[in-house]
Amino acid sequence: MSTVATANDPTPYRGRFAPSPTGPLHAGSLVAALASFLDARHCSGAWQLRVDDIDPPRAVAGSVEAITGALSAHGLFWDGPLVFQSASDTRYERALQRLTNMGCLFRCRCTRATLSDRGSCGQNCEDREISSGEPHSLRVKTHPEQMHGFEDRFLGIQSVFADTIPKDFIVKRRDGLYAYQLAAAIDDAQPHFTHIVRGADLLDSTYRQRWLQQLLKLEAPAYGHVPVVLDEAGNKLSKQAGAAALDTRQPEDNLRAGLRHLGQTAPPSSARSVAEILTHAVEYWTVGK
Ligand SMILES: [Zn+2]
Repeated sequence: MSTVATANDPTPYRGRFAPSPTGPLHAGSLVAALASFLDARHCSGAWQLRVDDIDPPRAVAGSVEAITGALSAHGLFWDGPLVFQSASDTRYERALQRLTNMGCLFRCRCTRATLSDRGSCGQNCEDREISSGEPHSLRVKTHPEQMHGFEDRFLGIQSVFADTIPKDFIVKRRDGLYAYQLAAAIDDAQPHFTHIVRGADLLDSTYRQRWLQQLLKLEAPAYGHVPVVLDEAGNKLSKQAGAAALDTRQPEDNLRAGLRHLGQTAPPSSARSVAEILTHAVEYWTVGK
């Protein structure tokens, strides 16, 4: 068992679920939503819904309605208004300006064909003169010796190993859009959120986002990564891979399946309604390894 925040902690708990509007909720995204919801409610915390809509080319019309409808059908009601990342992107530009002033960024003209392993720059763009008029992305330099591991609330100590060290990565894309890593690093940091609970497939991203938070002197939230849901072939369920939308006509079954996946105590059979299942799940929520 890891330590969980309690209502007695000096900092009130603020958590969130942050889907991108790229399709309806599926069994995997329900698990991420459910875990972050239960963790927040168990700690008497707030739980917000943030739509990560900074990538318009990937957006699918009707997704926000489908996602909010599915969350509501499963009793996962969020606090406050929906928050859209796209509503205000000046903070991303300000952060890029700060990173530029600190000498942390470089222009990279790599295309998919010239990228190195794991998507890093493949032609030493850092040492080249690349004009602002030339198509380019902006990458942040990384310094492994300055990176810190962290304690994941679900997985335990996460050390900085060769395979976890992020290489120079993109913070502004070649097409002019802000990169997911930049937006998430800023919007997940305190004081916006104190606790981030999400799928373990994002562990790699957490290293990148923590690096940006470190450079920008933002206080990192506590991170916890829960097991992702796999399909029969062992691949992560994803909208891109065409995972089936949740059947919202059977929310009780979906919730019970999600709780099983998260290793939680099964609600008694007397808990029949969505509200009864969630009440039990909030009370008995445990963060374990
Ligand atoms: Zn490059």
